[in-house]
Amino acid sequence: MLTAMGYNPLLLKRIMKKITDKNNAAELLQTLSGEFAVIKNPEYIHPAFELAPLAPKLTSPLESLTAAVMDMDGTTTTTEELCIHSLEFMIRKMSGKFTADEWIGLDHTLDYPNIIGNSTTKHVEYLISKYHGLFDQTEIKRAYLFAAVWTIIVGLDQKRKEEVIINLTNLNLAGLMKSPFFLELAASPAAVNDRENEIGEKLVKQYGSIFPELTRTDLVKLGIDIYYQRYHAILQRIKRGESRQISAELFNDPEKRLIQPMPGILFFLSLIKGWLGNEAVDLIPSLLKDYELKSGTPFTAQNIGTLQQRISRLSDHFVKDPAKVSIVTSSIFYEADIVMGEVFSVLSAQLRTLPLSEERKNAIAQKLEHYRNTYDAFITASDSTEIRLKPHRDLYSIALHQLNVPVKEFGNVIGFEDSESGTIAIRAAGIGRCIAVPFAQTKGHNFEAATMVSYGGVPEVVLTHNVFFTP
Ligand SMILES: [Mg+2]
Repeated sequence: MLTAMGYNPLLLKRIMKKITDKNNAAELLQTLSGEFAVIKNPEYIHPAFELAPLAPKLTSPLESLTAAVMDMDGTTTTTEELCIHSLEFMIRKMSGKFTADEWIGLDHTLDYPNIIGNSTTKHVEYLISKYHGLFDQTEIKRAYLFAAVWTIIVGLDQKRKEEVIINLTNLNLAGLMKSPFFLELAASPAAVNDRENEIGEKLVKQYGSIFPELTRTDLVKLGIDIYYQRYHAILQRIKRGESRQISAELFNDPEKRLIQPMPGILFFLSLIKGWLGNEAVDLIPSLLKDYELKSGTPFTAQNIGTLQQRISRLSDHFVKDPAKVSIVTSSIFYEADIVMGEVFSVLSAQLRTLPLSEERKNAIAQKLEHYRNTYDAFITASDSTEIRLKPHRDLYSIALHQLNVPVKEFGNVIGFEDSESGTIAIRAAGIGRCIAVPFAQTKGHNFEAATMVSYGGVPEVVLTHNVFFTP
């Protein structure tokens, strides 16, 4: 007898011991799935790779939707720009090459598939092994020492601070935290941002010679601290309401919103939560606009009457039987909290422009007051550990567990991801309905793990696939 995932209890009883040989292991593995993902681990992990059994792809129509599990960056929001900026900044800091003349910057086609959607360690590891030829030892130390001091004094994420202190200690630099200069900086944290050059210069003069010879693994750890410092410094400014100023500084465009929801997110969340009732059909024009925004092509509607009927039926269904929903992100909680806070304030503003009754708008507005009113689970990298993030299944498995979805209902779950590693993580967690929703930065990814690739994103899933329900 095979269970849904194909595992065979009789076979298991016959050959499963706590320790088994490779032949029996191969036989056992075969019972788990017909398809496996090969997941490469960071250099300092045993084993070098792991095989993850994938859930079979599912495309059959649904009768009910138990849950939707959704990635954050690139799927629910557009924050990838900030992450990519911070990664490029890290390489510039470690090399001292700050202008495009000195170094052209990251390669859209070759680099982006390797620096989006995975764990920060993997992103940094990739970039360091590709660009270490540009590095300068003094620049690395200067950038790292500033990042470490900033994180301990100005940073707000406790886990980050602890990691930075561990790194300092491993580099024999823990004494720095007792130095008069450090204590002076700690006494006026607000000034640290403006004194970056002076602080880096002073620290490298005083501590540069104490550093041991830096190995590749050291460079990755230092790079991670430099990356996070930049990213978190920007997040702190966004939280202070300086988004426009940052956009002008970094992208020469004050109107560019650094954090905003992906097209169709407000409609999709409101629909599957059952908030739209009989007014869902009034939002079809805005959903069509969102489809066009996401896919770049206008939606060629079949009969508009048929479309209205389908949306109306879907909305009725979800009013009676709302789905659960979770964010599943490889970002740490500190980041996800700020990002989703910003996303929900934009969603609240979007809501006010929609052609819905005041009564309904007010009811939905209450739900949007805090993102936790909408999400039944909110899973971040802080729920796991850096070495078990996507493409490993852990974050999605934690989400399914927190959403209280039993394994027999995994077939009624939809997962959304914009990256290769995210789609693998969804299927490795046992979810066979895995929708890739690529956006500009992840178009070059390999999506063979996905059940369906939807360039029209969430609006396409509603408009052409009916959220997988029978029309
Ligand atoms: Mg993503």
